[in-house]
This record gives sequence, C-alpha cells and structure tokens, in this order.
Amino acid sequence: MIAAVLHGPGDMRVETVDTPAIGPGDILVRVKAAAVCGTDLRIFKSGFNRPDARGPGPKRILGHEVAGEVEAVGDGVTGFRPGDRVTIAPNIGCGTCNECVQGYNHLCRDYRAIGIALDGGFAEYVLFPAKAVAQGNVCKIPENLSYEEAAINEPLSCCYNGMMACRVSPGDAVLIIGAGPIGALHIMLARLTGARKIMVSDIVDERLKAIEVFGPDAAINPTREALPETIMAETQGRGADVVIVACPSPDAQREALELAAVCGRINFFGGLPRDIENVPLNTNLIHYKQLTVTGTTGSSTHQFRNTLAILASGKVNIRPVITSRVALRDIAKAFSEARDMSSLKTVILP
Ligand SMILES: [Zn+2]
Ligand SMILES: [Zn+2]
Repeated sequence: MIAAVLHGPGDMRVETVDTPAIGPGDILVRVKAAAVCGTDLRIFKSGFNRPDARGPGPKRILGHEVAGEVEAVGDGVTGFRPGDRVTIAPNIGCGTCNECVQGYNHLCRDYRAIGIALDGGFAEYVLFPAKAVAQGNVCKIPENLSYEEAAINEPLSCCYNGMMACRVSPGDAVLIIGAGPIGALHIMLARLTGARKIMVSDIVDERLKAIEVFGPDAAINPTREALPETIMAETQGRGADVVIVACPSPDAQREALELAAVCGRINFFGGLPRDIENVPLNTNLIHYKQLTVTGTTGSSTHQFRNTLAILASGKVNIRPVITSRVALRDIAKAFSEARDMSSLKTVILP
C-alpha cells in the first residue's frame, strides 16, 4: 500500500509499504479520510514529546483523526464486518488500570495512540488492533455523517473534554483564545451549551477573518485593541465566565486569570513547548476571584462517542472546519498548509 512514512523529524516520505497483517481480533480499515492535526505537525517537526509515546521501531505512519471502511476482520471479531463505515477513538488504554477503569483511557499510563505510537491513517490502510476493538474504541459512523466529518470528530471530542472540565453553562460569556480549528470547534460547542456571548481572540487577522463564518459575537486582535478592556466592555465589567486557552502561549495562560470573571473557569487546552512550560501565574487572582483552573488533554472513548452522537444529531455542523482536501501523495502540501495556517483543517484523501 501507499503510505506517508515518517522516518525522522522533518523527513516524511510517501512510499510503498506492506499492508498491515491482520491478526485475531483486529480490523483492517481502508482509509477514506484522515485529518491533519497540530499534534502531527509537532511530531513531524520535532519528534515525539515523550520517548514512551513513540512506540516501537524508528518509523511511523501518523494520522490519528481517521475514518474508513472495514476491509477485513480478524478471527473472533463480532459486531463488525467488511463494508462497515468506522472511525476510532485513537487512545487505546491498557484496560485494567485505575484510569482506564474510571473511563479515562486517554490518561492511562500505558496508552497507545493510533497514529502516534501505532501506525495511523496517512496510508491506504490502517489496522485497528484487537485491543481497540475489544475496548470499544472502534465506532460505527452514523449514516448521516461523511467520512470527513467522522475523522474530525476526534478534535471535537477533545474540545468537548475541555468544555466539560470548565462546566460551560447556559448564559455564560465564553472567551476562546486562539482562532484556529480548535477555536472554531470550541465556538460550536459553546453555542450548543447555551453560552450567551462567545468571544475569540487571536493575534493573526487572517485567522480571525477565517473564523467569522462560525459566528463568534466578538473577534478581537489583542495586538490592535487591549484584550482586558475589550473583554470587560463586552461583559459589563465582569469578565469572562469561561476562558479557554487554545494556543501554546504562556502569556495567554497568564492573562486568562485576569480576564476571568469572579467564579470563572479556565481551561488550559493547549500544551506548551517544554522550554517555556514554567509559567508564573498570579495565584491571588485564583484565590480572591475563586477561579477554577483546569487542564485537559485528548479525550476518552466515552467523550468521543458523545460528540459522534452530537454530530449525528445535526446540532453541530463541523463541515466548514474542513477548508482543504489533499491527496495522500501530496501530503507535504497538507502539512505546509497547516504550518502556515492557510487552512483550518486539511483532510487527506487516499
Ligand atoms: Zn488531533
Ligand atoms: Zn490503563
């Protein structure tokens, strides 16, 4: 099969490799859509952030936001057959640790993610391993959803995890810092929860312009207008009930505490590069305003299923997040689009 194989940082080659061998309990899937994510970019650029996250072998096929059609099932697989349309919650937990048993399979110490530790969807075929099948990671795609939509359910489920952590509620004023694809997905979920006002900030005008189609109530460029004053003016001097920091910026994390209202909730959605991860925060703001500061990473299989159901309900339309489609052979173009932010979400179509 054809696959985009990462040989090392900055070295991805489209080449012919063996189609994955299918064992008992496995499902072999013919990829129909796989979306490029910030995580893919980071791994492509600087390698894996944890040595244990990289999985076996020197090479990897990335792509954890993936959907396709079942090509073949291994011995003992029940509930799936060739022709089924499927997607996968990519974080496969060990299944027995406390985190897994609580349903936090994405926080399992021994989790293996498709497209990160295991070969993923930037290929003609991807193997969904027996453990993923047995633990419920593999989901059938609801009839009214396309493969593309199913593929980007994964980042939607991560945003849902962030939203749940900071309890976005009807009537809230929500500020989302970062107008990328993740910002767009947060806007949709915030609206679904009944937020009364949704504000987005970004230092890049083009991104603010691109996100207008998702209908934020305010789009603010803090290099042009002071963010604190603007947020206070938009919220009758109270501040934002919820601040979601969806960008890798220590300054944004620091400022989030100032922009939050009394009893506000904050989510650090984006991780920071290692060399800038120690951020001085004014903890008195947390204390005197009774703030709740949360962090989230990835999503559980349960959350993944929830957002797939939300998509199937039609209450959220994520199609406009996909702004580019690229053939597998041209995957370099997809990565450069993601890098220079000229596309929100780029989907690879094998
Ligand atoms: Zn992702
Ligand atoms: Zn576990």
